[in-house]
This record gives sequence, structure tokens and C-alpha cells, in this order.
Amino acid sequence: MKKKLIVSFCLMLSLSMILVGCGSKSSSGSGKSKGYVGISMPTKSAERWIDDGNNMVKELDDLGYKTDLQYGEDKVENQVSQIENMITKGVDTLVIASIDGSALTDVLEKAHKADITVIAYDRLLMNSKYVDYYVTFDNFKVGVLGASYIEDKLDLKNGKGPYNIELFGGSPDDNNAVINFDGVMSVFQPYIDNKQLVVQSGQTKFNQIATLRWDGSTAQARMDNLLSANYTNKTLDAVLSPYDPISLGIISSLKGVGYGSSSKPLPVITGQDANLASIKSIIAGEQTQTIFKDTRILAKNTIDMIEAIADDKEVEVNDTKTYDNGVKVVPTYTAEPVSVDKDNYKEILVDSGYYSEKELAD
Ligand code: BGC
Repeated sequence: MKKKLIVSFCLMLSLSMILVGCGSKSSSGSGKSKGYVGISMPTKSAERWIDDGNNMVKELDDLGYKTDLQYGEDKVENQVSQIENMITKGVDTLVIASIDGSALTDVLEKAHKADITVIAYDRLLMNSKYVDYYVTFDNFKVGVLGASYIEDKLDLKNGKGPYNIELFGGSPDDNNAVINFDGVMSVFQPYIDNKQLVVQSGQTKFNQIATLRWDGSTAQARMDNLLSANYTNKTLDAVLSPYDPISLGIISSLKGVGYGSSSKPLPVITGQDANLASIKSIIAGEQTQTIFKDTRILAKNTIDMIEAIADDKEVEVNDTKTYDNGVKVVPTYTAEPVSVDKDNYKEILVDSGYYSEKELAD
């Protein structure tokens, strides 16, 4: 992997702060902390954000940083006031996984005025020049992996079809959802054009298939409508779902109209995040696939950045082209997502210690 090095914001700062040293703001009180990191997460309603927050706090504590971890519970105004509080408390670095990526421009300007380094975590912070770095997974690939899985299962490369499919997207205020969908369509568009894939609802535009706040019950209600309007005498063969709770909502809806029996099997259903409930569903033969984004890796990549900044070292990034937030291309470190299904979940999730056999069996 080609890795480029860029000079850190901190290095520039350090020219004018030689005696103070970067990251020393909060340590001035105790003389012990390596720095103070504010971690702003979107919601506790999804397992992954709980893991993300806990992983970062644990690692940062071990390294001697002070941390403040807050969850906005999917309310933008909570997240804004939590970040404002962190700025007031004197954090050196902000790690932010936004609820609405475009809603934080004012608070990011406040952070900039307070000389705080801002790292966008998993979700890109949009329309602000005060975003220093971005750590994430390859979001286009997330979409490609889900769509390619369906391509393989339906044997589309060998010309099979036509198959009926419906598409679901993530939250329209989350840049990841948009990029995921671009990845999906990079695989599906030719098959939709040549009619190997048929979207009976006709809903193939992002704004038609998006799911506000990635909400499972919103998706379930949409699936109910799609089924009654388009599939009373047709069979649905596949559903592209971008997130595990959405997949489970879709499955409930499908079961409600009789899918899930040997005469009417569930369609191929994708997901994202490798949530425990969805891995159990995959083992039970309901959800078909998910995408594992190892939150331990994301936390580690973020901490490497925080350490480099605190030590006045160059911050390592591996993508300086893709993540344009509307105002600047944000230097990014991306990690690889992994497709998981019944055949490889043990190897990917159990052998790596992400889940224990017991957790999956309970
Ligand atoms: C993340 C996904 C997550 C989704 C819903 C996205 O921004 O990249 O991993 O499933 O938000 O929380």
C-alpha cells in the first residue's frame, strides 16, 4: 500500500509553541496526562459505536491520555453541545463520529479557534476546513462488497436472471451512505440496465432508497410498502441492505408475508457491521451476509494519529484524494472492510477474538 506522509498540524503549531508543546493543554493541571481527547460518538443504539468508544478510551487510558467520551443519541443538538463542552474543558484533540456530517461547521470553527486538532471518525465531517484528518474504512468498497456478494449468489456474471431485487440505503446526512451506494451501483448498474436485475418498485435513486438515521423500523415500514405494492404475485430474490438493523427489519417484514419457509425461502439479504444479532441471524440462515469493520483497527489507527500529533511526528495517511468534504480533501487513513457470511464468520470473527463461541450461541 502506498503510504504518503504529511506534515502534521501539530508540527506547524509547534513552531510557535515550542515551550508549551502540542497536546500539553490539559496536562498543565496534573502534569501527568499526555493530552486530553474528547470523543464524540453518534449513538449508543448501535453496538459498533459503543465498541468504538470503549476501545478508544481503553487504549488512550493505557497510554496516559485523559478522555471524555460522549454519545449524542442521534440528536444533532446534543452532539453540538457535547462538543462545545469538550472545547470549554480544554481538550487537545476531538475525535468526532457525526450524526449529521454537515451540521457541525460552527462548532468546528470554535474548535479551530481553540487550537484543537479535529479527527473525523468513520464519518466524514462535511463543509468545513477545520477537519484535520479522517480515519475510516474504504466506504466505496463496503458498497462493492455487498453488491458483489449478491452478484455471486445470483450468478449474474454467468448471465443468470432476471432476478427481482430491492435496494436500501443508509442515512442521507451521512456521507458514508452516499459513498456506499455509489459502490453498490458500480456493480449493479450494468445488471439493471440489461435487466438481469429488476427493481420492481423502480426505486433506484439514492434519495428514494435512503433510510434516515439508518433506522431499522423505518426500513421495515418501507419494506412492508414495497411488498404490498409490488410483490403480491412476484418473488423477491435479493435485498441490498446497508446496515444490520435495517436487514433485520427487512427480514421481519418478509416473514410477515410468508417468506422464510422451504417453499418460500428468504431472499439473499446483505448487511453491515457484523452486529451480534445479525451474526446469529446468519448462523440461523436468515440474513445472508454482513460486512465486518473491525472497530479495534479503527480505534488503533485513530490512536496512532493522536500519538503522532502529541509527539510532534508526521501523521501517516494512505488516501489524500478520495475524501472531499466540499471544502477540502481531508487527509485520510482507511482500513479494509471484510465480507462475512455463514462460511467464514468463525475465521473472521471468532478466531480474531471479536466474538466468542459462547456469545454467538447464547
Ligand atoms: C457507519 C456504519 C454504520 C452506520 C450506522 C455508518 O456511518 O460507517 O458502519 O453501520 O453508520 O450506524
